[in-house]
Amino acid sequence: MTAPLFDKVTVIGLGLIGGSFAAGIKQRGLASKVVAGSRSARTLEKGLALGVVDEATSDFADAVRNADVVFLSVPVSAMAATLEAIKPGLKKGVIITDGGSVKGSVIDAAKASLPEFISRLVPGHPIAGKEKSGVEAADANLYVQHRVILTPTNKTDPAATQKIRALWTALGAEVLEMDAQEHDRVLAETSHLPHLLAFSLVDTLARQGDSVDIFRYAAGGFRDFTRIASSEPGMWHDIFKENSDAVLQALDMFSDGLAQFREAVVKGDSEKLLAIMTRANSARAHFLALSARSSFTRATTTTDESSMSKAVQSASAQWQVMPGGKLSGRVRVAGDKSISHRSIMLGALAEGVTEIEGFLEGEDALATLQAFRDMGVVIEGPSAGKVRVHGVGLHGLKPPARGLYMGNSGTSMRLLMGLLSAQAFDVELTGDESLTRRPMERVAKPLREMGAAISTTGNGTPPVNIRGGKSMKGMQYQMPVASAQVKSAVLLAGLYAEGITSVTEPAPTRDHTERMLTGFGYSVARDGATCSLQGGGKLMACNLEVPADISSSAFFLVGASIAQGSDLLLPHVGINPTRTGVIDILKLMGADISIENERDAGGEPVADLRVKSAKLKGIVIPEHLVPLAIDEFPAIFVAAACAEGETILHGAEELRVKESDRIQVMADGLTALGIDNEVYDDGIRIQGGQIHGGEIQSHGDHRIAMSFAMAALRADGPVVIHDTANVATSFPGFAELARGAGVQLESL
Ligand code: NAP
Repeated sequence: MTAPLFDKVTVIGLGLIGGSFAAGIKQRGLASKVVAGSRSARTLEKGLALGVVDEATSDFADAVRNADVVFLSVPVSAMAATLEAIKPGLKKGVIITDGGSVKGSVIDAAKASLPEFISRLVPGHPIAGKEKSGVEAADANLYVQHRVILTPTNKTDPAATQKIRALWTALGAEVLEMDAQEHDRVLAETSHLPHLLAFSLVDTLARQGDSVDIFRYAAGGFRDFTRIASSEPGMWHDIFKENSDAVLQALDMFSDGLAQFREAVVKGDSEKLLAIMTRANSARAHFLALSARSSFTRATTTTDESSMSKAVQSASAQWQVMPGGKLSGRVRVAGDKSISHRSIMLGALAEGVTEIEGFLEGEDALATLQAFRDMGVVIEGPSAGKVRVHGVGLHGLKPPARGLYMGNSGTSMRLLMGLLSAQAFDVELTGDESLTRRPMERVAKPLREMGAAISTTGNGTPPVNIRGGKSMKGMQYQMPVASAQVKSAVLLAGLYAEGITSVTEPAPTRDHTERMLTGFGYSVARDGATCSLQGGGKLMACNLEVPADISSSAFFLVGASIAQGSDLLLPHVGINPTRTGVIDILKLMGADISIENERDAGGEPVADLRVKSAKLKGIVIPEHLVPLAIDEFPAIFVAAACAEGETILHGAEELRVKESDRIQVMADGLTALGIDNEVYDDGIRIQGGQIHGGEIQSHGDHRIAMSFAMAALRADGPVVIHDTANVATSFPGFAELARGAGVQLESL
């Protein structure tokens, strides 16, 4: 019980909404007295018998006498008469609020009947309900974790709004404020229109049903779609009448959409049909993500609300990994992120349909996918890693309706800056809070030299604004700092530029863009540290099996190396020479890794990796291999902990500014498991030994969590790993794959 917020609260109309409001207030002690005014004696008796209110009367003026708050919960068509009826009993300073589903008509009625109380009017609408009505259905917790929209007018006293907000909050609701007209429009589109369609569809079919009882053959989809046609007809009658303007507007908008759908069916226009449905799919996934307050990934990789909520629960999970075990069988790890991004970009700009398999359904690559959908590209999927991109050609992108949102993906933003510099339309690129702090000028500068009109904020951070219609000129770019993203952005802009664009890098960086351009039939020349291409060519669609990510494979390479008796096959792993440092380092430590069946996938080299357990020895890691294995060091550190002798790493200061200070966080974890180590500014010394059980703080760093899951294979006690949620964003399905291969991992 809390201290009462009010002395007397009166509810007029003691049905589901009013009864639940009264019951919630009584149960929580939010008012000293709760009184009901309702028409029928039966309702009043029931309300008293159920203990929902303290007093009840059919005289509305009497009911509201001396009340601090009056809550109207009668049908919206009865609001005007009800306001007239309460008028004689209202005290000065009363706050009048309501729960009606339409707001404009209630405000109009109040202006007409109670002009002197207009500053005390706080219109509201709880977004909660049941298919049952009447006081019998009242529930003191109906509003818990539901939204309530308040629509104060410009005359409403803010103090009154504040008090009603506090009351709903105390009832467990989340309170939003909105303009009444906006409320009626939004609700017409998202609630009133779907109800109208459900009523109409069921009625239309029921009227056809004289010869065959069609409902006998209807499946679950029909039941789901028409569930809301079971709602109370009287209430919906009122809503359609009282909000008729907004409902008609929504209906007209829908009719236009339906006509387009019809036309696509008439013409057998597959592309248009797919465009409509894939847009709807992704919009619904986005809606589910919002309503579950979860990340984009979880929403798009699950297909219904129940699996969504399971996914959301697991977001905060920890792992407990039991000691021992060996890795065996075949593990197909998640697709390579860099290649997943580029498969969408190049597929969209190609001519023809690109079929992609093994696409990484992580948040970052999904941000790229959504951006191209927003620019009119039809993309089917992703479904179990399969995506079909209907390419529009180099000049077929359409202006997006609003800015492109890149989430947390720096790769998407930087590469798109290059590609979009040369389009005919203006575009704004935005991202989440963390992306909004990252520097973009390194990319913008060379693009401006090529003729692009790009602006960033005063700090050189997003939002990035690009003006369209600029003609680009090829250039010879000498990169001051080695960066695969800058190189890629310049080369992508070069596709549209006049003449030759070439980039020279001071040190080797990942070359996925060049390789994949070649895979899509675009010729890129390489001469030492310089690569160049001629603008004005064409990309041709191709089928592409995204290689399994070598960084994700690294955990399994290490796990199978350290766990005795292991024999594991990792099929179709990308072995781009700019990424294979981890294999070289593990081999130097004595790992038994064989590279089998080497082949090409869309310009990228791939192979099957077979790894067997081996006796590892400590080494001094050659510095030239450091940049080629930068993301894999957490896993390599676990290998070092299991090796005989000491392993020394220098030249890896970059590890300190990754998702966490990876050197320190790994060192703390190793110490927690009893492994001796010494941290340097730019590296670490690790003395191999017996790994003990213990607790690891991963600090939300996915690679650290996955590395220690493998360490448990050689531990003498359970390893508990905290803060593992982010694993889902970089390596969806890691826990299941690890379990399948032999790691005894349990999500807590
Ligand atoms: P309900 O359970 O049917 O209750 C409505 C109450 O209003 C009844 O108790 C009835 O009182 C009274 N009433 C009916 N016609 C009246 C009239 N002509 N004059 C005076 N009183 C009358 O309906 P509800 O679901 O609580 O809905 C109440 C309000 O909440 C409506 O404005 C509705 O739009 C809004 N709302 C409903 C939902 C929902 O899902 N149900 C959700 C959000 C908002 P007696 O029993 O004494 O006759």
